[in-house]
Amino acid sequence: MAVRVTPVAERAIRSGHPWVFENSIREMSRQAPAGSTAVIFDRKDRFMAVGLLDPESPIRVRILQEGSPAELGEALFRERIRQSLELRSPLVRRSDTTGYRMVSGEGDRFPGLVIDRYGAGVVVKSYTPAWLPWLPDLLPVLRELEGVESIVHLPSRRLLNDPAVPEALREPVQLLGPAPEDGFPFLEEGLHFRAHPRVGHKTGFYLDQRENRSRVRRLAKDARVLNAFSYTGGFSVAAAAGGAREVTSLDLSGPALHEAERHFTLNRASAPRARHRIIEGDAFEKLEALGQAGERFDLVIVDPPSFARERGQEDDALGAYAALTRLALPLLDPGGILVQASCTARIEADTFFHIVLDTARRMHSPLDEIERTGHPPDHPIRHPEGAYLKCLFARNRG
Ligand code: SAH
Repeated sequence: MAVRVTPVAERAIRSGHPWVFENSIREMSRQAPAGSTAVIFDRKDRFMAVGLLDPESPIRVRILQEGSPAELGEALFRERIRQSLELRSPLVRRSDTTGYRMVSGEGDRFPGLVIDRYGAGVVVKSYTPAWLPWLPDLLPVLRELEGVESIVHLPSRRLLNDPAVPEALREPVQLLGPAPEDGFPFLEEGLHFRAHPRVGHKTGFYLDQRENRSRVRRLAKDARVLNAFSYTGGFSVAAAAGGAREVTSLDLSGPALHEAERHFTLNRASAPRARHRIIEGDAFEKLEALGQAGERFDLVIVDPPSFARERGQEDDALGAYAALTRLALPLLDPGGILVQASCTARIEADTFFHIVLDTARRMHSPLDEIERTGHPPDHPIRHPEGAYLKCLFARNRG
């Protein structure tokens, strides 16, 4: 189908932006179902871009290719996946790391689609129903990758609320091989983890924090560590492997903590020394309680979920980040390290770093920056909205 857009949108598309919003469409040749090919023409009827239609979303078209025509299908997907793997080649070649993001949506020119590799397992997650009709073209490309034995498709929350999505695709669907009974086992820097795509967050693990976990591992020698919002204990295990004396995992979710405990056991050989303690509950309450109880740590990790999923929630999110900094700082020993992360795309990195550092200054507990980190190479950024992850490593001046 042919689509014509406003002049502003034309400029955005030419500069490589992958989204065409509903309100920038001037003319559409016909109504069509999700995943239909949308060909965008400029005011002089010249070809501009080709993308996938998402008729129920404000992001009405997601662009796959700009500047020259492309036939969507298996051959294009094969070439794109080859490029994705090439971009990640140092990671893909590592034998001590078998979990990585193979396709990161817009960042890899698969807008709205994520593909994660966990050892012999592959998890495909669609964030728009526009990908559903294309799964049969994608599947052969994934099947032929070396070592792949199991492929599962997950619907995002957005698909569950779309009346046009068939009932069968609102559940995880096994596309190849047996469903993993106990998650997909994989390695991260030699440590053993399991991703649980059917019950977990994202695709079952937070691959995006790999490099920050690695940094924590290097900083954790002999440390007493608190990991708030621990989920399944990725940072906890990394700290233990780095020589931490004691690690506390704190999360609201009992099942996540149970899995953190299991991850600890799985990695005993790499961390024979560390004690693991678990606290189940709301981090805001428990951090305060730990402070009041006089507990102190050498390393405090604070990696909460996104606080502003919708427009208008940005101020609340900033308030929550400041509150977490205020609660974490009194828990740090002099010279102790705060690792605070944000995955809220609506909060820019500089704003986040400022709020953490400024909160510390106001509390007369200034922080010396060690490092500001962003996305790892398997989560490339190609448009501003795609930049979500930032993390501050800073030392309490004492
Ligand atoms: N750091 C983790 C990912 C954290 S995801 C990793 O590297 O794997 C965010 C976690 O915060 C989830 O496990 C969720 O259960 C937890 N969570 C959400 N709200 C919370 C709250 N108010 N208190 C404690 N944990 C919370």
